[in-house]
Amino acid sequence: MPPARILFLAATLGGIGFAAFSVMTVPPPLWAALVASGLYVGLILTGVFVLRLRMFADAIIRGPADARGVVITFDDGPDPVHTRKVLEILDEHEAKATFFVIGRKVEQYPDVVKEILDRGHEVGVHGWAHDRLFALRGPRRVRRDLERAIRALEKVTKQRPTLFRPPVGHTNPTIARIAERLGLTVVGWSASGYDGLAGAEPRKVVRRITRHLDDGDIVLLHDAAERDDHEPTTSKTLPGILDAVKDKNLRIARLGDWITTLEE
Ligand SMILES: [Zn+2]
Repeated sequence: MPPARILFLAATLGGIGFAAFSVMTVPPPLWAALVASGLYVGLILTGVFVLRLRMFADAIIRGPADARGVVITFDDGPDPVHTRKVLEILDEHEAKATFFVIGRKVEQYPDVVKEILDRGHEVGVHGWAHDRLFALRGPRRVRRDLERAIRALEKVTKQRPTLFRPPVGHTNPTIARIAERLGLTVVGWSASGYDGLAGAEPRKVVRRITRHLDDGDIVLLHDAAERDDHEPTTSKTLPGILDAVKDKNLRIARLGDWITTLEE
């Protein structure tokens, strides 16, 4: 079990114990109750925001221990212009990648999704609406969003998707449970250059990602702007990242292969 989940369970049990003790004996001073509650809420929020802690979801953050190479992933597409540029660059470098697509964009640009698959890449879901407040939504809304995203992708690919990257990487027990019921494996990342932000500097993005890049890393990039309001830097950063992979004598691995190994 991931250490963060053990901490969360221990804190929850501790909190219940603390409350029971307070009811049965003397109530604690108000400040102590407030500090304890504040720490607990802080712990939960950390778990929601930081997917790699795996506090709530059994997310895949890296490849198996003996993994060779790095996996390249893209979020927030498909986009008829930018995704196609990315596909060209990947072909030039003979690299395969995984695209986590937004359901509503899949409906808009099904041809781009087909092109991704035709060129030998993998696709997974990234929510229907890419709701930034996904972690605050109730179970019904989470389930509907994911089911709609699954249906949209299945309609184009004729295959039920099994990979899921949560919108903005936020998870909680509800998202984790529903993803599992829908047969989705939650996929995080271990190397990010924060390229999804408007105004991201390509040079800095490449440096952040390649600085410590090593076997087993999952790289997060964006082949489209979440709200299509700026040009993603990927066509400027991807060639440098793929060159660095080569210079470091790494290779490009496939996420599907790693997941098969991890789930065995
Ligand atoms: Zn996203």
